[in-house]
Amino acid sequence: MDFDLSREHQALRKLVREFAEEVVKPATRQADRTSQPPTEVIKQAGEIGLFGVPFPREYGGMGAGETGYCILMEELGRVDTSFATIIGAHIGIGTMAIYLGGTKRIREKYLPDLCSGKKIAAFALTEPQAGSDAASIKLRATKEGDSYILDGSKMWITNGPMASTMAILAVTDPALGARGGATAFVASTRDDDGNPIEGFTPGKFEHKMGLHGSPTSAIAFDNFRVPAENILGQTGLGFVVFMQTLDIGRVTLGAATLGGAQAALQQSLEWAAMRTQFGKPLAHAQTIQFMVADMAAEVEALRSLVYRTAWLVDNNRPFIKEAGMCKLLGSEYASRCVDRAVQIHGALGYSRDTFIERGFRDSRIAEIFEGTNEIQRILIAEQMFREVGVKIRP
Ligand SMILES: Cc1cc2nc3c(=O)[nH]c(=O)nc-3n(C[C@H](O)[C@H](O)[C@H](O)COP(=O)(O)OP(=O)(O)OC[C@H]3O[C@@H](n4cnc5c(N)ncnc54)[C@H](O)[C@@H]3O)c2cc1C
Repeated sequence: MDFDLSREHQALRKLVREFAEEVVKPATRQADRTSQPPTEVIKQAGEIGLFGVPFPREYGGMGAGETGYCILMEELGRVDTSFATIIGAHIGIGTMAIYLGGTKRIREKYLPDLCSGKKIAAFALTEPQAGSDAASIKLRATKEGDSYILDGSKMWITNGPMASTMAILAVTDPALGARGGATAFVASTRDDDGNPIEGFTPGKFEHKMGLHGSPTSAIAFDNFRVPAENILGQTGLGFVVFMQTLDIGRVTLGAATLGGAQAALQQSLEWAAMRTQFGKPLAHAQTIQFMVADMAAEVEALRSLVYRTAWLVDNNRPFIKEAGMCKLLGSEYASRCVDRAVQIHGALGYSRDTFIERGFRDSRIAEIFEGTNEIQRILIAEQMFREVGVKIRP
């Protein structure tokens, strides 16, 4: 067993850490306060190749695989969950769906601009009536000559207000339901000047508890035309492409939560070593020590799980159960670690001037998006029972 990262992956970690500390971090407070994405930072991330980390070089990527992508997300998660969410939606679900389901022609057409950050991607699955029950989507795609016409809406789409390329799941055969009658498409939703293409309307920014720097909106399609050659995977089997994409996304969401938990631990250690009450640093209080020990144990367990699961992905081994665990444990550990960090910082942890307060608001969402934790428990149990020959879902 070799737990060392390759030289290339170590160099990637160094590159991302410097970028995160020097470029992302200084922009995060402004993005949180104004609820505006840091567009200049996004542009710079694209320029140094971060948007292409997991994708093959032939499509303009860095070729660093899932392990490299986890490194990227962990390092971004350490400084800002909002920025990590923008990048995660762009790479891990938006572009990943296009890569997994796209033909060579589609990959060659869309990936270079997505890997360089010239274009931003989104992943459009959720609808008002279709959250956890993703198979109840209604957005309709009707064949008309060499095109499909999309009508309907999606909601809660990360990067929805700014993306110009989208992976969209739509119903092509209502009689078969989403599992056999939904098709995935890639579509350009904005022209080269950034204007919405006819038939596409990005909604207004959602006001959220946290993740203020990460834009989320509803999106609407009205008589929106997509060429039939833009189908991802096969007609009627788009649900498979979307679910496979989410499986991969969950590993790296685990990596982003690892970064958040690690940052909360680090700041708690530093604060407890410095802050003196009753004549001694807080570090001397056993209650504080216990909180720090629990955080450290969770961070370490999560790190092993995330990087082992990335190894499974990179080595073409089954990983669905472990991916669900990365998302489930990562989100719960991160929420708990940030909660303890607030407690250790006392009033300062409740102040809007600290990373801790923002981390507390920002971390909660990981228990909800990309499949709630209740759904992850169902998926993991399903895999476990399958291993002993019991089918718990049709
Ligand atoms: C900030 C943010 C960004 C997002 N980004 C995207 C995006 O980029 N693309 C996209 O497509 N979607 C996105 N989403 C949507 C997200 O994936 C959904 O919110 C999520 O899947 C849950 O759906 P829901 O909110 O409708 O909750 P519901 O499905 O209504 O669930 C409500 C509660 O009931 C529980 N529940 C539901 N069914 C069951 C069951 N069978 N058994 C037990 N418990 C159950 C859930 O676990 C949850 O606790 C985003 C959401 C947010 C808030």
